[in-house]
Amino acid sequence: MDIIDKSGAELRWNPYREKGLIIKNDLVISFLVGSSTIVVNSKVFTGLEFTYSEGQLFLNKESADLLYRLLKIDQEYFEIVKDENLFNIPVIIIDPGHGGRDSGAIGKLENIVVQEKEVVLNISKMVVEKLRNEYSHKKILMTRDEDYFLTLEQRVDLANNIELEAKQAVIYISVHANASLNKNAQGFEVWYLPKGYRRNVLDKNLDDNLKLTTIINALKEDEISLEGQELAGDILDGLNSTIGNMSSNRGLKEEIWFVVRKANMASVLIEVGFVTNELEGSRLAEKEYIKKISDGIFNGIVDFVDRYENGER
Ligand SMILES: [Zn+2]
Repeated sequence: MDIIDKSGAELRWNPYREKGLIIKNDLVISFLVGSSTIVVNSKVFTGLEFTYSEGQLFLNKESADLLYRLLKIDQEYFEIVKDENLFNIPVIIIDPGHGGRDSGAIGKLENIVVQEKEVVLNISKMVVEKLRNEYSHKKILMTRDEDYFLTLEQRVDLANNIELEAKQAVIYISVHANASLNKNAQGFEVWYLPKGYRRNVLDKNLDDNLKLTTIINALKEDEISLEGQELAGDILDGLNSTIGNMSSNRGLKEEIWFVVRKANMASVLIEVGFVTNELEGSRLAEKEYIKKISDGIFNGIVDFVDRYENGER
């Protein structure tokens, strides 16, 4: 592990699943202990095999040499790798939470009753309109654009049924509003899926090709969930710049809230504020305030998409 330290790279290690990411600037190497297959910026390579014992990661001499070369990769080579790996995001899905008989959180305030399902639909429509103006060549989808009920399954099916080619990805953004018994609670937060939210158990009876595919998919998933974290960060920053002076930034949170089967997808869930707080709840019913929220979400998405599509991660 001296190599990682000395090269200024960062190791993200999951001891339970014996998987890790080595990150240095734009370079992301995913590995799984006991497999010689690694994924370097979405490309598959072999020949670097980690072993793990007594709480430490080890590499044999050959693998150590390869890792050393990868981490010292010269700029020119890296530019080529980057070009080959440009991803694009042809589809963006905006998912306003709740709807119909499911009103979501309800804020019974002094002068008005604020319903989550209405607030999030209004915000989502504004975000979608802006995205459609910005990206005429992309499909901008909504899970619902009116007040009707959808199951979790129906929401996610829309995403999982999209056909993607290699090097295409989808982003999925769920919009919600918060509630608390504590009437003072207020602020916005963004949730992302934790790494390794989908468990792939390797079947010993699979043939080698299938095994390899399964390993690669598992590794790519880790990269995609890292991207979910980045998308969440961009949206949080976006919101902070438009409503940070009026509401509290409660930060990024990691949680499994639903399972999206599609691997090529970064998904986040935004809690835009508390309908149960007198001031914030009434603001969430005002067009001017939710326009600021939609600007923040939109700016965050654009930051992420542009960086992702230009290969500058
Ligand atoms: Zn909700």
